[in-house]
Amino acid sequence: MEYQVTLPVKNENGYYEIRLESIGGLGANLCGKMLGELGALYMGLNAASFSSYGSEKRGSPVKAFIRYSGREQEIGINSPVEKPHILGLFHEAMIGKSAVTAGVTGDTRIVINTDASPENIRKRLKLKEGTICCIDALSIAMESKTRINMVMLGAIAKASEFIPLDAVSELAKKTIGKKYPAMWEANLEGIRRGYEELKSQYFAKDESGEEEYQEIKNEWGYANSPIGGVNPCIGSTVSNDLSASREGYIPLFIKERCINCGLCDSTCPDMVFQFAKGEYQGREAMVNMGLDYHHCKGCLRCVDVCPVNALVAGVEREHPNPEYAMRNQDLLPEQLDYEALGPNSYVTSEAYLTENRVDGGLV
Ligand code: SF4
Ligand code: SF4
Repeated sequence: MEYQVTLPVKNENGYYEIRLESIGGLGANLCGKMLGELGALYMGLNAASFSSYGSEKRGSPVKAFIRYSGREQEIGINSPVEKPHILGLFHEAMIGKSAVTAGVTGDTRIVINTDASPENIRKRLKLKEGTICCIDALSIAMESKTRINMVMLGAIAKASEFIPLDAVSELAKKTIGKKYPAMWEANLEGIRRGYEELKSQYFAKDESGEEEYQEIKNEWGYANSPIGGVNPCIGSTVSNDLSASREGYIPLFIKERCINCGLCDSTCPDMVFQFAKGEYQGREAMVNMGLDYHHCKGCLRCVDVCPVNALVAGVEREHPNPEYAMRNQDLLPEQLDYEALGPNSYVTSEAYLTENRVDGGLV
């Protein structure tokens, strides 16, 4: 079925443009392709979409570009979108790490995967004017057993105000539903929740000039340097902050289930597991003491390999790491209390057990 839509705004060349900023593994490329197909096959528009990525590695930066025009006008350019009408940010840890908001104007709608409020994101993006649309795509994807890109697709459709939810669902059924029929219901649920749970807020420019945003600086000085040379950015080195390259999941360790088989240790590419001499079932053994998350990139291979579900997937931002503290306490990086956060403070097996989740077979 073709839905007749009218583009609400166009740029000086007559196009409506979308740019997606993401990292490899979150599915922005497919999301971009589906948005292009939606325009051309379902909404009576001309459409073009393409992606730009480097090594195709999980965690490396990815951009996708989508351009629409009315049927009366052909799309004659194939260059990256510089001033998007919609900017989709698939990973909030990219804020401040790369120029994800380049070309954003007061007319841009920023759709971001986060559990933070639009006001908090506005502050972190240092945005003076514009619309911020927040969707907790990571949690929805986990709950609905779908992928982040499906939730973001639904959210972008809602933010656009012209892409019909029915058209998105039809397309997903035809493309993903054919290839992975078992995933169809979950994907539909993710798209619907992305559409319905989007929280949008418009921020007008303060003409009085009283609004002042502090410049975010990531430089360490005597007032804000962490104690004892501790590296506060989990999964990163001191000189290279890689926190944006993790997809938002971490392995959680349930020590009570561990049989100390060592499979996680031989699978992990980053030597995250800490084994030490101890006792297991009344005998001296090498015992799994837990994870050093500073080296963990969140690939979850250890979760796949653990035979007794002693490792389960968790959402990184649910635990008190620096990003979490910034969101929940409304702080800027230089205002964080790194001493209180501690290097490994953000997850323990006890923290997991008190949450009483059901994934991994826990009841
Ligand atoms: S694979 Fe699982 S059971 Fe084996 S040592 Fe690692 S956490 Fe423990
Ligand atoms: S998620 Fe990947 S990097 Fe992290 S502990 Fe597991 S295997 Fe190692």
